[in-house]
Amino acid sequence: MKIVIAMLKHETNTFSPLPTPLESLGPDGEPLRGEAAYAHFKGTRIPMGAFIDLAEEIGAEIVIPIAARTAPSGPVAQAAFEQVTQVICDCVAEGCDALFLDLHGAMVTDDYEDGEGELLERIRKAAPDIPIGVGLDFHANMSARMVRNCDVAVGYKTYPHMDMYEAGWRAGELLLDMIAGKIAPRLSFANCPVMPNILRQATDEAPMKDIMARATALETGSVLAVSVFPGFPLADTPHTRLSVLTVTDGSEGEGDKVCHELLDLAWTRREEFIYENESFIDGVARAKKLDEGPVILLDMADNCNSGGTLDSMALVREALNQGLDNILAGPIYDPEAAAHLVNAGIGGEVTVPVGGKFDFTAIERPGEPLVLTGRVKTISDGRFIVQGPVFTGMQVDLGRTVVFDTGPMRIVVCEGRVEPLDLDMFRFVGLDPLGYKYIVLKSKIQYRPTFGAIAKHVVECNAVGVGSADFSQFPYKAVTRPIYPLDRDASFGDKR
Ligand SMILES: [Zn+2]
Repeated sequence: MKIVIAMLKHETNTFSPLPTPLESLGPDGEPLRGEAAYAHFKGTRIPMGAFIDLAEEIGAEIVIPIAARTAPSGPVAQAAFEQVTQVICDCVAEGCDALFLDLHGAMVTDDYEDGEGELLERIRKAAPDIPIGVGLDFHANMSARMVRNCDVAVGYKTYPHMDMYEAGWRAGELLLDMIAGKIAPRLSFANCPVMPNILRQATDEAPMKDIMARATALETGSVLAVSVFPGFPLADTPHTRLSVLTVTDGSEGEGDKVCHELLDLAWTRREEFIYENESFIDGVARAKKLDEGPVILLDMADNCNSGGTLDSMALVREALNQGLDNILAGPIYDPEAAAHLVNAGIGGEVTVPVGGKFDFTAIERPGEPLVLTGRVKTISDGRFIVQGPVFTGMQVDLGRTVVFDTGPMRIVVCEGRVEPLDLDMFRFVGLDPLGYKYIVLKSKIQYRPTFGAIAKHVVECNAVGVGSADFSQFPYKAVTRPIYPLDRDASFGDKR
């Protein structure tokens, strides 16, 4: 048996100023292929890792034509999409017994609002009889076109994403069962006009905790897999919204029933998907009064795993202005400042503008660098392996990375963009997060199993960035209206 395994994984923030060219879709300036892709993803706890393990378990021949991924950013360059798609289509057209795909589900390209729908349709056209199984992110903005053009699809059930491997494994396993004639999978798909705030999507809290518990309970008998996708609201597309997808054995009616029950549940809980917060200036003032650290100042608006630039300095600036001390901050994506600091050498005293290199045109805010004076503490090549439990085993490459000591703050400045979701993000450069009163952390929910576990307090600060939790800042144009909560009078079926 010959199994093709491929990845084109991107969560697109259509408001992000960061470009997504082909060179960004792999660790060394191009997407990984063949042996290099195998070596990179074998052993990781993501769908690619699961697909490889599953194929090896049944003794299949594995072909990995291409594996392209990067942190969330603006729309994928059309040329990059065309090239990666062509490589996958050419490979399956040569003949294989199955295709396992590791996709996100909220990819937008320069020309296509439904990147995965276009990709899957082209693959189907290139090789109409090849069974296709897909692993999807919890934040997928699912489209009917995606569903029409694959045989099996399974999304993560957790946020923070703790079950990426399991979701991939389940998708692969169901596809193999189909090929063996043990099951006849049917997909059911439906959505409702709700755009949940990302800050209200954590699966260890209501309402998603209850919705996911019900989804899991419904996976019984002929219902083989139930995926609930709250969606990615920072991708402005017609299909951006909460949706449900089921895989059932044979009966479509059963799947439709499950979809509608879960959508009804989500709709009745819609008010709980709204996130409201104090101003970040008030948040910092509140943090200042807390006695015990570490206190996490959560810089959610600049979370790079929502498409943030990772270089917004608004929260750091405010913390310094209000006189906070013993601060750990970073990483900040600023290749120019990193190069300047590396050139100064360890011990070098430098005054340098840090961050603020990108203008946030979509939300009408210019980039605002923060001029800092301090001493270079540490210089590193920026490479380490994630300990987990989120993205366990993934190799991280921050590029040249510097610890810059400004007195009240130690700030990590680097050439790469990676969300700080692992304690080793600071430990690898000799910084122990436990030793600091305040940690300015650019994350939303994924930090919880690691930094959340060591924090005495978390102050959620919605400062400045294209990952903002405040929908009213964004000029939505493509999303299908009415949708809750942009339109508070939206209705679903006959329900208001
Ligand atoms: Zn996600």
